[in-house]
Amino acid sequence: IKISNLEKIYRTEDVETVALNKLSFEVKDGEFVAVMGPSGCGKSTLLNILGLLDDPDSGSFLFNGIEVAGFNERKRADLRKRNIGFVFQSFNLIDELTVFENVELPLIYTGVKAAERKKIVEDVLDKMVIMHRRNHYPQQLSGGQQQRVAVARAVVNNPKLILADEPTGNLDSSNGNEVMQLLTDLNEQGTTIVMVTHSEHDARYSHRIIRMLDGQTVMQDLMV
Ligand code: ADP
Ligand code: ADP
Repeated sequence: IKISNLEKIYRTEDVETVALNKLSFEVKDGEFVAVMGPSGCGKSTLLNILGLLDDPDSGSFLFNGIEVAGFNERKRADLRKRNIGFVFQSFNLIDELTVFENVELPLIYTGVKAAERKKIVEDVLDKMVIMHRRNHYPQQLSGGQQQRVAVARAVVNNPKLILADEPTGNLDSSNGNEVMQLLTDLNEQGTTIVMVTHSEHDARYSHRIIRMLDGQTVMQDLMV
């Protein structure tokens, strides 16, 4: 990821809010970066742009060497579903689908055949130690289990990049640490991770903290 002078301004009838104010930074292939900063500093706006859910007003965003700023929704969606996995604070699983079906969904979107889907999903559920719950519905699982399913869904397409938004925000510390360990394992296997967090504890799992204030980076700390 290489973003330069990224700007995002929200305009309502009478107010203009500068959410990203010429934000620039780089994340190298295979890095694990935490983004921290007070509420309203632009973290969600940034994640939406990095996740190709939204487009900046100006500036450059190189993803895998491709300039994606200015891409239309169709092109962004195409790149997103093949390259990016999302993990959210509130899990965002589909309650009407089983664990297996939730994790299978991204593979259906990318056109993987049923027999191959079964094999891939079972493999991922196994790795996330949630195979024994494959036929349960999200509401029948504990929070820690739901987040393990969400991580499974995020990685099932073997994405280059995982974007995590407060992934432990709804978990107790033991389940939270378990999810952070899963993210660490994925990173060690080569997946790049950008994680927004309020938790200094969770940030210590990363290689580097990017600190934001008012839509800009104010500091970068290297973890030792
Ligand atoms: P954070 O995730 O760090 O809390 P956000 O990216 O959500 O920050 O918000 C950055 C700024 O942009 C805030 O001032 C927020 O109020 C504003 N903002 C976010 N989304 C919108 C929107 N859809 N319309 C107007 N203002 C918004
Ligand atoms: P874990 O430590 O594996 O995350 P918990 O300690 O939170 O699980 O939960 C204890 C056990 O109770 C788990 O096996 C969990 O699946 C089960 N459980 C929790 N809530 C429900 C529920 N609503 N319906 C069925 N089983 C549940």
